[in-house]
Amino acid sequence: MKNLPSKEIRETFLKFFESKGHKVVESSSLIPADDPTLLFTTAGMVQFKPYFLREKTPLFTRATSVQKCLRAGGKASDLENVGKTPRHHTFFEMLGNFSFGDYFKREAIKFAWEFITEVVQIDKNNLYVSIYKNDDESFEIWNKEIGVSADRIIRLGEKDNFWGPPGDEGPCGPCSEIYIDLRDRLGYNKEECKSLEDCDGFLEFWNLVFMQYHQDRNGNRKELEFKGIDTGMGLERLAMILQNKKSVYETDIFEPIIRKICESTSKKYEGENVIPMNVIADHTRAITFVGAEGVYPSNEGRGYVIRRILRRALRYAGKIGINEPIIYKVIDGVVESMGSIYPEIVSKKESVKKVIKVEEERYFSTVNRGIQYLSGVIEKIKDMKLNTLPGEEVFKLYDSMGVPIDLVEDICNDEGISIEWSKFNELMEEQKKRGKISWKSTDQLDLTLITKNIDQTKYVGDQHYEYESNITSLFRYSNGKVEKVNSLEEGELGIIVVEETPFYGEGGGQVGDIGIIISDENVAIVNDTKKSNDVYLHMVKIDKGNFSIGAKVKLSVDYDRKKSIARHHTSTHLLHAALRKVLGDHVAQSGSLVEPNRLRFDFSHYSSLSESEIESIENEVNEVILKNVEVIKSLMNKKDAISSGALAFFGDKYGDVVRVVEIPGFSKELCGGTHVNRTGDIGMFKIVKEESVASGIRRITAVAGKALLNYFKEREKIIESLSTKLSTPPNEIINRIESLMNKVKELEQRKAASKQVSKEEVISSLSDIGGIKVTFSVFNDADMNQLGGIIDTIRNEINDVVIMLISKGNENISFICGTNIDKLDLKNVINQLSGLGIRGGGRKDFIRGGIAKDSDLEKIKHEFLKIVSLSLSKYDR
Ligand code: ATP
Ligand code: MG
Repeated sequence: MKNLPSKEIRETFLKFFESKGHKVVESSSLIPADDPTLLFTTAGMVQFKPYFLREKTPLFTRATSVQKCLRAGGKASDLENVGKTPRHHTFFEMLGNFSFGDYFKREAIKFAWEFITEVVQIDKNNLYVSIYKNDDESFEIWNKEIGVSADRIIRLGEKDNFWGPPGDEGPCGPCSEIYIDLRDRLGYNKEECKSLEDCDGFLEFWNLVFMQYHQDRNGNRKELEFKGIDTGMGLERLAMILQNKKSVYETDIFEPIIRKICESTSKKYEGENVIPMNVIADHTRAITFVGAEGVYPSNEGRGYVIRRILRRALRYAGKIGINEPIIYKVIDGVVESMGSIYPEIVSKKESVKKVIKVEEERYFSTVNRGIQYLSGVIEKIKDMKLNTLPGEEVFKLYDSMGVPIDLVEDICNDEGISIEWSKFNELMEEQKKRGKISWKSTDQLDLTLITKNIDQTKYVGDQHYEYESNITSLFRYSNGKVEKVNSLEEGELGIIVVEETPFYGEGGGQVGDIGIIISDENVAIVNDTKKSNDVYLHMVKIDKGNFSIGAKVKLSVDYDRKKSIARHHTSTHLLHAALRKVLGDHVAQSGSLVEPNRLRFDFSHYSSLSESEIESIENEVNEVILKNVEVIKSLMNKKDAISSGALAFFGDKYGDVVRVVEIPGFSKELCGGTHVNRTGDIGMFKIVKEESVASGIRRITAVAGKALLNYFKEREKIIESLSTKLSTPPNEIINRIESLMNKVKELEQRKAASKQVSKEEVISSLSDIGGIKVTFSVFNDADMNQLGGIIDTIRNEINDVVIMLISKGNENISFICGTNIDKLDLKNVINQLSGLGIRGGGRKDFIRGGIAKDSDLEKIKHEFLKIVSLSLSKYDR
């Protein structure tokens, strides 16, 4: 036996088959090119499928390759086997030779035998083969021609030794596998381990598939006209055999990878560490190779398979005590081992490492805690000699620990534990019902009634986003009713009132703040804040623990959201001022809404705004934003404020002391709302809609700051996808659409103008030539399918007809021709006319085709009639 390094095994294999007239073909991608049914390339034959199905004609009839394969996810998954057997990988390389209608069984068997016994010199005395149960032909070849004794040829059934068809129908055939007896090496007891049928002491390493039949949908098999050969031998398995190893993971291919794992973990490759390290090594290879082809962990399709592989690798890392990112480091080992053969993993190394590291970090920050918990539970279950994980535990993992259900499923599968789905589903249902309780119906509450006789709240939100205060009143909200209470419990909806708050209460068009209120371990989520009689009402759901009157609490406003609201509020003032400047002083505010994502402003004006007016308004506002003017807020006596020119919105009531918001030189308004400190904080401003809401009242919707950035991003995405769909650069999209619209219009006009041809019309055009009825008719822009239908009907109704129908369009001339005269060969007729610019294809009684644009139709007609009558007179009809 030749102890060859893997690099030489690849070369020797390809060279051997090259010397037997095979073309050496590069490995194709792991992502099958035109096969959406297949997640990954699972065998060498995948790239040659069209040749076997005879959808394409190959330029060569013998090929050989070393193919990258992945068997994970989908039907042909070996994911679960990795770590359990010494011979399975997810990613592996398959050595193969192929014949497309060239050689068949005899040569395939002879080539294989020559390679393994003479080239790499495996001892014949250790080899066994299997064949399909009634494939006597293979038996004869193995036994008589190769000389393998009958007791070493095992007949196996459909499941092991019959391949295909790949779908409901197609090529299929028997296989013959080659095994090596490794019982001594792997330590199997020969008394117990007698046959390759039931013992892993015999290792299958090469499978020869004979594509012999075509199977139809009903399972009937017929010998193929072009028979094929497809063989596959795992490089790692051959390396294991030749390098005298006990598992594929001990070969030279894995040495640098395992070494890297040992280095990065400071653990040894021995004892209980061996299996987890094998799994990590295998999975890192798969992740590296698939990543190099641009597939990264995600939630669907191929990306999802990769995510599961990565998580499985990290679970096994946990088994050797590693609970931090590791796989991205092991990628270096994969590249060291295989980079010289596969340059793509070298060039993509850094980006794959980056993505994988981030994915690993995410795993450890969210999922790992849950997994450790689950391992504990599984241990207990096993201690109690049970084998089902209770639904409550699954729910807890999912609901409060954030572990994805499929991961729980994967782990349980690996551990041989089933899941109590019924209970889990029940708990999910309950949770859905609970989730429906929320603060949406608050609008109907009579706030003035609730806040009667309650102390006012002091608003500190202009200076603070976080503030400590004491609870002064509590209300519980249930079944549409509000009642005063002394405490609120976990899961309840209610209202919290405090002495001082940074939460803005809805008012002046500005929406209320949201955020959280906490005291020690207790948490309330603030869904909205209202205001009535100067009492601020925090509409909450108690998320955790409970709250009682008098408790000291910390109130925290959702800062980002409040910032966005402030940008829109200051923008509203600038918009108001710009409207008055561009449209005139008659513009008065009649309503407004200020939200984190947009603002809406209603105002009096008699007509819709023109494009240029809108643009001027936008420009005015953006000018002030760019000037970065300070926004000054001050308290003033109401009379003084109004006489100094501050705008007041007469829908609101004001006290004697009012707050004035001034943007010097541009705007001055009475306003209690939240504003930015300088206009530059707004970033940018844009009007996205202008419409009428009532007679004499217009409404503008506008967006500012981050919300506007998102708005632009979305628009950009639309443009990008338009550009891809239309295969046109963005600046030409409009031209392209215009030309498409013109085309549609033209087609519609042509269609309207094109005449419906009637059967009667064609029949009446038939003339009798020597006992047969012939026509040669030309129409403008006729529908070819309709003409075909007419020919079919007439052929069934009238004997001995020859019908030639021509449709003349602007661009081209098409024809369709049919007959029911057996002796007449239309193909022949049309061929004879080819000199006149006519070409067609079809059957001898039915032909379609085209006629060159400036051909002489009269001449064609003349010749056509002549050839038809001549060729018919040759026959005795
Ligand atoms: P097994 O029964 O061991 O899973 P298989 O019957 O699935 O093998 P084939 O589909 O016939 O294997 O693939 C052809 C050859 O490819 C096998 O003989 C083996 O050498 C190799 N091979 C198949 N699956 C794997 C795998 N998961 N890892 C490594 N090599 C494999
Ligand atoms: Mg298999």
